[in-house]
Amino acid sequence: MSLDRRDFLKLGLGACLLPFIGSARSETLISEHMYVFGTLVDVEVSATDEMAARRAIDAVAQDFMIQNKDWHAWKRGALSDLNIALAAGRMHVADLELLTLLQEVTVLARASNGLFNPAIGGLVSAWGFHNDLPLDGPPPAKIELERWRQTPPTMDDLIIEGNMISSRNRALRLDLGGYAKGVALNRALDRLATLGFNDALVNLGGNLAVAGKHGDRPWRIGIRHPQGSGALAAVEVSGRTAVVTSGTYERYRDYEGHRYHHIIDPRTGQPAQHVASATVIHRDAARADVAATALVVAGMKDWPQIACSMGIDNVMMVDDEGRVQLTAAMARQVRFLESPLAIKVVSLA
Ligand code: AMP
Ligand code: MG
Repeated sequence: MSLDRRDFLKLGLGACLLPFIGSARSETLISEHMYVFGTLVDVEVSATDEMAARRAIDAVAQDFMIQNKDWHAWKRGALSDLNIALAAGRMHVADLELLTLLQEVTVLARASNGLFNPAIGGLVSAWGFHNDLPLDGPPPAKIELERWRQTPPTMDDLIIEGNMISSRNRALRLDLGGYAKGVALNRALDRLATLGFNDALVNLGGNLAVAGKHGDRPWRIGIRHPQGSGALAAVEVSGRTAVVTSGTYERYRDYEGHRYHHIIDPRTGQPAQHVASATVIHRDAARADVAATALVVAGMKDWPQIACSMGIDNVMMVDDEGRVQLTAAMARQVRFLESPLAIKVVSLA
């Protein structure tokens, strides 16, 4: 099998229409790119009716825009309204959609042993990551982190009674940044399937989910090299599958020779150490999204235990030196395009 690296780097802008070469069906690949969730988004579907496909992609784009508003951690919308109420110690009436999301993410957060903690929005904000602008300046003052560590909020501090939400901990601020894209990926594939498109790929800034096939072959997905600009590896996936990567390269600030990235270890209040990226393959993109973030926090020693507890068996971890650890399931599926410094297959048992 020969893999063309250009297949993996679908970063071009604008819409394009690519006929399947060698496909027996008269389907074409309809592809649209957009910017939402603060990232480049790419939706591709294979279709015989181009207009119907473009309408379906438009429907997905509309969903993304609504989700981006409703689930945004710091811009005005359903979640930030809730955060304002919690900060003021008030009870807040939430709609069913947000309640369901919070209940589902709480289950995942518990499965991660609290390493994924969407209640730490205040901490993420203190590190300056609730901001669209390029970051600079020093990290939060030690005293601020110390104060935070004394009463760290978790999802178990939330009190949900009917559709009313309140918090036992006034420091609790919700940030679904490590989960919402996964939910959006699931919903996008659901929406496309409902509209009759069962062969599709959705890429939210490097977090991908696919359904069906790419013509007569599986979808080919590149996994970014955390220390480079190209692909480190590639996987072939088909059917309903998500390939989600959390990388410390995604957002960071540099200050006096130190790099501070956006994935925070709730135990220390500091950016997680030593992991450059975690890639998870799983059917459910929301679980994969949470797990990828949690595994960065878990670190190069403890990640297998957290993967097990989250029901994840297909993982690739890259450390900050470029060394790779992966599960047996990932080792069977992945193809390296660059040679890592070291590769170790780790047992989850
Ligand atoms: P991801 O790109 O999926 O790894 O998510 C990273 C985002 O999740 C960050 O930008 C924060 O908004 C948020 N975040 C950072 N650390 C954590 C954590 N330990 N638990 C939950 N969310 C986090
Ligand atoms: Mg995530």
